[in-house]
Amino acid sequence: FGTYYGTLGTKPRVVVLGTGWGAVPLLKHIDTEKYEVVCVSPRNYFLMTPLLPPVSVGTVETRTVIESIRSLIGPRVKYVEAHCVSVDPKAKVISCNTDGEQPVSRGDDVKTILIPSRRAGGSSSRIIKDSARVRPSFDMKYDILVVSVGSENNTFNTPGLEEHAHFLKEVLDARHIRSAISDAFESAMTPTQTPAERKRLLHFVVVGGGPTGVEFAAELAILVREDLQIYFPRLVANDVKIALIEALDHILSMMDKQISDYTERHFHRENIDVLMNTFVKEVKQHEVVVQLKGSDELKSIPCSVVVWATGIKPRALTNKLREIIGFDIQSNRMGLTYRSIFTLLFEEADAERRGTLDLQQFRALVERKITEFPQLEIISKSIEKAFEEADKDKSGTLTLAELHSALGKADTKIRALPATAQVASQEGSFVADLLNQLKDTQSNNYEQQNLKSFRYKHMGSLAYVGGDEAVVDFTGSKPILDMFNLKPLSGRSAAYLWKSFYLTEMFTGRTKTLLAFDWVRTQFFGRDISRY
Ligand code: FAD
Ligand code: NAD
Repeated sequence: FGTYYGTLGTKPRVVVLGTGWGAVPLLKHIDTEKYEVVCVSPRNYFLMTPLLPPVSVGTVETRTVIESIRSLIGPRVKYVEAHCVSVDPKAKVISCNTDGEQPVSRGDDVKTILIPSRRAGGSSSRIIKDSARVRPSFDMKYDILVVSVGSENNTFNTPGLEEHAHFLKEVLDARHIRSAISDAFESAMTPTQTPAERKRLLHFVVVGGGPTGVEFAAELAILVREDLQIYFPRLVANDVKIALIEALDHILSMMDKQISDYTERHFHRENIDVLMNTFVKEVKQHEVVVQLKGSDELKSIPCSVVVWATGIKPRALTNKLREIIGFDIQSNRMGLTYRSIFTLLFEEADAERRGTLDLQQFRALVERKITEFPQLEIISKSIEKAFEEADKDKSGTLTLAELHSALGKADTKIRALPATAQVASQEGSFVADLLNQLKDTQSNNYEQQNLKSFRYKHMGSLAYVGGDEAVVDFTGSKPILDMFNLKPLSGRSAAYLWKSFYLTEMFTGRTKTLLAFDWVRTQFFGRDISRY
């Protein structure tokens, strides 16, 4: 087996890393008559990420949102469950490892996928016996490598996350959250519990008002109103509290302003406290520590379940590849999001550790980095303005929350592709077409082979906001949608659109059926609130 992967056969070998939104369309469309295709990923299933928030409260069941990669691609593509730890582009070899121990940075979920029981709160999920996990590491040669490894959670090095917060990125994260909610309610029912402790146990905190945080908060509010209210009426009436904490002055800041405003008003009606201009600095066992914009004071909020959804950053492997083959892979083809620049600035300036960035340091940083990131020109103007505003009461420094807000404003001006499933799947199909058309598989010069470059077609953004309501933003959608001059949609009509869209988006008849059944089951019998 080792020798097999060590040598190349008669057909050029395409190795695809990943089984997510980018990789699967590619694997489905690539011509296996032309190529020997091998897929390497630690996750032997495709995950329907948009349905993770409903899974985390039991509206939709776990198995509904995953589809075995083998059933999706069939035997024409080889699949190996492992994760790639390094690439040698000169020798055209990848090194893979199967134990998930490395590379692990904070927020990296590869370890969670390969060794599900390790994540805090996951002791009940030791589903794979150790003996079954003994697999050797291996190297594999390739002719063409496609890297579609997604991203990892961006923690901004916030202390306490690994131990005390839940992410919502993998299916096991959703399962752990579901158990933690049930656990909080059952703990609150213990007869000797003090009123203060009951309140703390039933205070749920969601950090990050992007679409992940918003959709999760919405699902949680619905779970409380439709199901927990029946079984714990007194707790729900007196003690339950859901807070959504956002560093910027709006939630869903990447969407149309009307949509942010609508969602904020809707959340108010749904009893979700939206705390804006609030930056979470630390998560402790029983509390989160926050800093309000424009204040140096830290405040502590007692709580139990904390869901951390502050965005994503590139994986360690992607960063390594950038170092080896340069930054072009991201900046030319896809564009940089302000968030990746944000991370870079913070890391460079060591600002995360200190919690602030000063103007001089920032200017020096921009000067050093401007040739590498032309987008800094736009960003730096926005940040300079933020320094000016901040300087009204203090001088020369910006807190992380202020910097974040300035970058948020700059983001709308940068023509970057969002890190969404929509983008990834179009890219996957594009790469499959590109490879299918490629005449000379040994040459990297695609321009000479008359191949078109990637053009993204935006079809609009959807987000579920709870209470049978959703929001749809068509800003930047492809010309046909603009032609009809579609305005942002909110409310029930958007919810129907959201439901029908995801039903059709499910990859197979099996998952479509399961999803339809889950919705019917929830409608008639409610959600299963037991902890397992
Ligand atoms: P992924 O889908 O994350 O796939 C990455 C793959 O690479 C995985 O199979 C992983 O196991 C594998 N991998 C990781 N490391 C390695 C390695 N070292 N070697 C080999 N393989 C590796 N987007 C939308 O457009 N609409 C939505 O409604 C939406 N909702 C979302 C809801 C949630 C809760 C989340 C978390 C995300 C949502 N997204 C949504 C974003 C969307 O999921 C991502 O943009 C999309 O998954 C990116 O696709 P990808 O293929 O790049 O990465
Ligand atoms: P995001 O980057 O979109 O939003 C994160 C939010 O967290 C930001 O608003 C940021 O200001 C805030 N934040 C960061 N640090 C903070 C702190 N310490 N305290 C308080 N707030 C803080 O992240 P996401 O929602 O996880 O989404 C990740 C990606 O997945 C995005 O590209 C998004 O578009 C995509 N996604 C899309 C959908 C959808 O289309 N329905 C759903 C989920 C995710």
